[in-house]
Order: sequence, then C-alpha cells, then structure tokens
Amino acid sequence: MSGPLTHTYRSGEVHRFAAADQDFIYLVSAGAIFALDGAVGDVLAMLDTQEVSHGDLVARLASPGASSMGMSPADAEDLVRELRLARVIVSDQTVAAPAPAKPEGDYPLQALVLNITNQCNLACTYCYEFGADKISTQAGKPKYMTLDTAKASVDLLLAQSGGRPAVHITFFGGETLMNFALLKDVVTYATQQAEAEGRAITFSLTTNATLLTDPIIEFLADARIGVTVSIDGPKEMQDKRRVYKSGKGSYDVIEPKLRKLLARHRSRAITARVTLSDGVTDVVSIFRHLREDLGFHEVGFAPVTESGEQAYALGEAGMTSVLEQFHQLADEWLEYALRGQMHGFSNVSETIGELVQGTNKSHPCGAGLGLMGVSPSGDLSPCHRFTDADSHVMGHVSTGIDRAAQGAFLTKGHVGAKYECQSCWARPLCAGGCHHEAFVRYGDTGHANLHYCDWIREWTDTCLKIQGTLAVKNPEFLEKFAERKGLS
Ligand code: SF4
Ligand code: SF4
Repeated sequence: MSGPLTHTYRSGEVHRFAAADQDFIYLVSAGAIFALDGAVGDVLAMLDTQEVSHGDLVARLASPGASSMGMSPADAEDLVRELRLARVIVSDQTVAAPAPAKPEGDYPLQALVLNITNQCNLACTYCYEFGADKISTQAGKPKYMTLDTAKASVDLLLAQSGGRPAVHITFFGGETLMNFALLKDVVTYATQQAEAEGRAITFSLTTNATLLTDPIIEFLADARIGVTVSIDGPKEMQDKRRVYKSGKGSYDVIEPKLRKLLARHRSRAITARVTLSDGVTDVVSIFRHLREDLGFHEVGFAPVTESGEQAYALGEAGMTSVLEQFHQLADEWLEYALRGQMHGFSNVSETIGELVQGTNKSHPCGAGLGLMGVSPSGDLSPCHRFTDADSHVMGHVSTGIDRAAQGAFLTKGHVGAKYECQSCWARPLCAGGCHHEAFVRYGDTGHANLHYCDWIREWTDTCLKIQGTLAVKNPEFLEKFAERKGLS
C-alpha cells in the first residue's frame, strides 16, 4: 500500500516558543509563525518523543478520551493532511523543502549605494576600509566620484530597476559630506530623471556628522533625505575609537551639530548606528544618551567586523554583556509596543519588520540582488562594504552589471549552499549572515557566519516572543507597525 496510510510521522522543522501564555511554532519551511491550537499542539507533543504512524495519529486524534481531541475520523484525516502539506509534520517520504529560490540573474535593482568618496576626515581605529580588515584596493583609483560617474549610476539604476515605481539612492563614503557638492547635484539630477519617467526616488546618507553645517542641514531637511549617523555614544564611548588622525576625539565636534540636525530635520528618520567594540559595550547607557539626550529617532547596534584577532574585538564576555543589555532594551521595546508606542531600538524593530513580512530569505541581504554599491571610479560591487575591492567587482556603471560575476556571487551566498544552515531553524531570517563579514572572517562570502550562530538564534527567539506577545495582546500594533514600515 502507498500514500499517507503507510507514513510514520515526526515533527517537522519547527521552532517552538511560548508568549503571553500561548504556544506558538515558527515554521522554518515557510518563515511563518502560527499559534498552536489544542489539537495541533497535542500532535506535536506526541511527536516530540516518538515517531507515530499515520493510523495511530488519526486514531489518537479521534479518540474520545483525548484532551482537545475527539474529532471525527474524517476531521482527523483532514488535520493530518493539512499538517503534512504545511510541513508541520513530516515523514521519511517527505521530500525536503527546497531552499528559497535564488532570484533570476536579471533581478531588478531597487537601490544603489554611491560611495561618493573613499576619503575620510576621521581615522576610526576599527574602520573596515582602512583598518586591519581592509579589503578595498584604493591605490591609483579616484578618491572622489565625478558628476559623470554619478549620473551614469543614476541612469543605470533607473534602467535596471525593471520599472519599479520607486527606487532609492544611499550616499556613503569615506565621509560622505566630503563630497557634498556632488551629493546635491546628484539629488537634483536623479529627481529630474525619475520624475521624467513618472517614478519616485528617495535618498539617504550615512555620515560621521563632523562636517554638518547649517546649510547642509537645511538641504537635508528640505530634500527629505534620511540620515544615518555613525556614532558610538556619549563622549567617553565616542572618543575611544572615533577619532581624528591626530588621535583627538570627535564627540565635541559633532554634539552641537547633531542637536541642530535633530531639531531641524523632521521630514525623515534620523538614525544612530553604533559599532560595538571592546570597551564600548554599555548598550543601555549608549541607547539612553542617543535616544533620550540627543533625540535620535532610532538607534541600532552592530558588533564591530573583525577577523577574530584585533584588540578592539568584542570577545565572548563582551558579547554576553551586549546580549543581556539587548534583552533589557527588547523588554522595553515590548512595553512600549503594548502601549502602542514606538521605542526606537532598531535591532528589535528590524527583526519584527522581517517577521511581520514572513521573510524567508534566499540570501542574507539585498547585496548583489536589489542593492549594489558603486565606487568613486564607477565600479559596481555587491554593496557599499565591497566598493573598491578588486576581488568583488560586479561590472561598471558605464558598461552595466556583470551578470556572470553577479550570478557567481549569488550562487555562492545562497542559503542552500551553506551546509551548517540547513539544520538551523533561524535560517529564514539569517541565511548565513553578512557576506562582507564572512569574507573578512573566513575569506569567503559563501561561508556561514558561524561565530554568531548562538547569538542569532537567541536574538531571533527573543523577537519571536515579542511578536507572539503582540499577536495576543496588541495585534493592532503589529498592523500599524507593518503599515508604518511600508510592509503591508
Ligand atoms: S549562520 Fe548560523 S544562525 Fe545563521 S542560519 Fe546559518 S547556522 Fe543558523
Ligand atoms: S553584505 Fe553585509 S554589509 Fe553588505 S548589505 Fe549585506 S549585510 Fe550589509
């Protein structure tokens, strides 16, 4: 006999968690969250400890004595079929779920990151462009992007974005504002070109804030340009590693400028991005300073990228302390959300945003897919962190995207190519982690970032519990959150 009647079932690839007195599963094959009702919970509880044959499972579900069971045999058959189709339960005869498909080679662009200069007026001691982990090869290359190269970048974005109604340009450096004159011209040109095609274009930039002036702040506010400031916190944190070449700290220079920026610029979110490194791990006090004292709208944290040997590396104790403090801020984030308020800790906001969308990634991020970086010379790369890196050129703005190089990068970085990730329940969101981080750490963009797995899984579990709690106690917040983030 063939078909389901001969199946012996076990639990599918699910991550179980509880939130607000409710059991949930995170179904890995779909990247989706489901509240467990009585019968499904009982099925999974049965399969936790043993494999059960199809006949036994149906019989037990239909057994009148069973708690939350006692359904008709026909309903029990239907339930088992549904669970099997959804891969909540699987048998030896279940074909493994395919990894999320790799998008086609000509996947349309959505955003370009223009490195309008590779020069910087600071010399942050952990900088990935100039520090020990440098992968860029700038010798003999232009230091500043020209208007011709920038215009060609805009033209490429509009031509290669497959008619998307909206595209985005991020300005990056070096220190972006060292080429502010070009930035202004690009905004004007790109806006005209997009309007001529009846399409929308938005802009953002990342800056160290040292070169902000009143006219620049006016321009950013009037042109509705989103701003991300690289800043490591209050003076004692900022001045530890975010220093001028003389060794002088930069906090006193940026503090008054940031206050002006945050008072004047209300048309887009102003975000702080903190690099955590050895000795810069006071996440909660950094958050309080940036969010409450200075008034940033969102504050996000990332551990410094390093190959495992640098003195500024976080180390295990540092990571543990950071994670504890992340949990403290995550609890606050949830308290705010239960009251219908936004908290501003973007590490939670971003993960919840992905969970709300039901994200199931083929690749860890948009690098080389909808997103590409452009170096000052016009070389294309997977993202801003690979610009000027000869090892990762992916075409040129004047000649177009090198589809072969793009295809090779995407094949290597696909989640299905990362052996260790195949048995990891966090892969719908993580997909192996940042390609650049992997290249710095392992010399291979296709290597899973295994040094962060425990951290990633624990953090994902925390965010799942937040999502589950909100689903039970304040589902309206999740709907509004999705709307606000443009996810629905
Ligand atoms: S890198 Fe680690 S945490 Fe991420 S999907 Fe792979 S195994 Fe899981
Ligand atoms: S490769 Fe890393 S740095 Fe580049 S976009 Fe992806 S996550 Fe960001």
